[in-house]
Amino acid sequence: MDETTKTLSRRNFLRASAAAMTAATGVPALKGLVSTGHAAAPAVQAGPISDHYTACDMCFNRCGMIARVQNGRVIKLDPNPKFLKSRGMLCARGNAATAHIYDPDRLKHPLLRKGARGEGKWQRISWDQALDHIAEQFERIADKYTRCGVMFSPGSDMQSQFLIRFAEVFGSYNITSHETLCLLSNHRAYLDTFGETPYPDVLYTKYIIVAGANPYEAIITPDTIDLMEARKNGCKMVVLDPRYTKTAALADEWYPIRPHTDMAFFLALAHVIIHEGLYDREFADEMLFGLDELREHVRKYTPEWAAGETGIPAEDIRRIARELAAAAPTAMVYTGRRTSDYEDSSQIRRSMAIVNALLANWDRPGGILASREVGVRAPYFDIPWYDDNPDDRIDHGMAPGLIHHEGSFKLMRDAIIKEEPYPIKGWFTFKTNFMQTAANRNKTIEMLDHLDFIVNADIAMSDTAWYSDLLLPSPSFLERNDPVSALQGSSACACAIWRDAVVPAMYESRDMRYICTELSKRLGFPETFDFTIDQYREWQLASIPEAAQAIREDGVYYNPSKVYGIYFDVPLKTQAQKIELYNQRYANMGLDPMPTYKPPRQEEGKLRLVVGRTAFFTHSNTNNALLIEFEEENTLWIHPKTAEGMGFRDGERVFVTSDAARVELALKFFEGIEKETVYMTTGFGALSPGQRLVHNRGASIAEVLEDHVDYISGNMAMHETFVTVSRKVG
Ligand code: SF4
Repeated sequence: MDETTKTLSRRNFLRASAAAMTAATGVPALKGLVSTGHAAAPAVQAGPISDHYTACDMCFNRCGMIARVQNGRVIKLDPNPKFLKSRGMLCARGNAATAHIYDPDRLKHPLLRKGARGEGKWQRISWDQALDHIAEQFERIADKYTRCGVMFSPGSDMQSQFLIRFAEVFGSYNITSHETLCLLSNHRAYLDTFGETPYPDVLYTKYIIVAGANPYEAIITPDTIDLMEARKNGCKMVVLDPRYTKTAALADEWYPIRPHTDMAFFLALAHVIIHEGLYDREFADEMLFGLDELREHVRKYTPEWAAGETGIPAEDIRRIARELAAAAPTAMVYTGRRTSDYEDSSQIRRSMAIVNALLANWDRPGGILASREVGVRAPYFDIPWYDDNPDDRIDHGMAPGLIHHEGSFKLMRDAIIKEEPYPIKGWFTFKTNFMQTAANRNKTIEMLDHLDFIVNADIAMSDTAWYSDLLLPSPSFLERNDPVSALQGSSACACAIWRDAVVPAMYESRDMRYICTELSKRLGFPETFDFTIDQYREWQLASIPEAAQAIREDGVYYNPSKVYGIYFDVPLKTQAQKIELYNQRYANMGLDPMPTYKPPRQEEGKLRLVVGRTAFFTHSNTNNALLIEFEEENTLWIHPKTAEGMGFRDGERVFVTSDAARVELALKFFEGIEKETVYMTTGFGALSPGQRLVHNRGASIAEVLEDHVDYISGNMAMHETFVTVSRKVG
């Protein structure tokens, strides 16, 4: 856009600014955190204000923003009204990005570890010294252990693609990122059913079942906003969750389903839809593969049987199946987001995908949609061959449905500890914090003991940074020029964005493109990064050159590509070229070709621990002066009857003990939780004193969760931990 400059009187500006921040964020009055040195917002001064398009980086959604800059400082962030994906919204976290950029806990200079890992002794060094040191360490590891001896974790930043390019040219296949703790089981399930990872067309749906997702709190754009709009337009919402979430609170019906029994519910829905003939026969003939096998498979999964497993009355299951089928094809089982919950998550998600298939909602309004064409291309580069490298990634073959470019952090960690099938001795992490996000933190620390060299590039001193050997300060998203990012999916998407710096990079922070460029010169492949950001963007937009002007003028480019009916007359990317209710590849691999229910594990005298996040949680923690005000410490939610039966009082501090660790939390009595389940939020209990607002505050899920894994995708399984709760003594 043309930069517009507005001048307000100091009095009007102060009034407008204060009102807008309160209205937009609901940010509470700061209760003393400013005195800790955490400046929540810059001081307001007179001067012209310039407006700049950018895209939020406080979570993965990348909502369009307008940054208001005055005297070289970002004073306010507002939604970009032309950015349809977020429907003109910025959530609390997006608004709180001012506290992110001006966080006094930011990393300011390259730092080299001097004491033991985790001891917190650092020496400030120059960028040249840091880059020379990384190059020396990577060369040493490559010579001794092959290039696959360095693992790369590139995060989900818009500059992560540079680190992936670097890793591939350097010669390591061992790339893994946060997705392996998040949603890969869902990707696996839908790839193996529809041949695609779909996007829910929430805005136009008339009936939605949300199982294990919490979109009103764990915000996904546009789904969260579209769900509110759809509800206003008469959409019925049924929520299954052992916890009364904010989504449950706004649903027509909420069922506190017993954890790990969702598959029973969905197989029973399939039973009713098939055996009462409630599906679209024409669609079935044309699009479904394995309906006869599924009919036999679900014969025994009656609503009466499912009631015993789930705790949901049979008549409700039967009624919901009929209502759902009556609303089809503008009806859906929500495809969700974080699906890293159980050891058979891929099969649970397959049972949901199968119900969607029976609703004939694929590629149709109000149903689940294929990826739309955006037109952003990945620029070509040569990947060299290194003869001495092993044949494959370290976790190859450890799970039958591993998604190759992501692998499994949990399985890689196990392999690194065993040093089998080969050693990994180096790790480059960029804006990922496995120490705070991956289950069983002690095991992550054990993995670090097997690594000779860890380099971490990040904005702040995360727990992973705290345990690293060399730290590189990164600029925030408001201080750098990023490549183009394509956002695909629902009717609101198929768009492209980039970011230009709205203020200069603070301190000595340097972006990932600079780091990769400089390292590639030192390691002998300078041509890989011999481009400017403008050239790179031009390559990305080669097939849609008109996009550049749109991004400059509106902050976003929309490709007017087809939304619905993308697959009419086009075979699906499955083996049968149809929707695979019966998965042939699974059958060939000796896996269940259709989801088969197994009753959940139970452990005598223990409670199942489930975890989730709030709308104030950003990335791996809540070390943000504005956001921490909403929830200053996490607690253990427990049903009062369960707690009172154990003799506890509300608010009492207890020990929560799993097979992985023991942590301390305050109890929060809450009637809206299933009686054999307890819950805690993510984002607290940081080990790093460099994150002062969450260091030693509450407890970390990474510490107490045991490291289970989905047996098909290798996705971490975060809801398979059982804990005891005991009185804190001493
Ligand atoms: S949902 Fe919130 S935090 Fe995430 S990108 Fe959008 S505004 Fe930022």
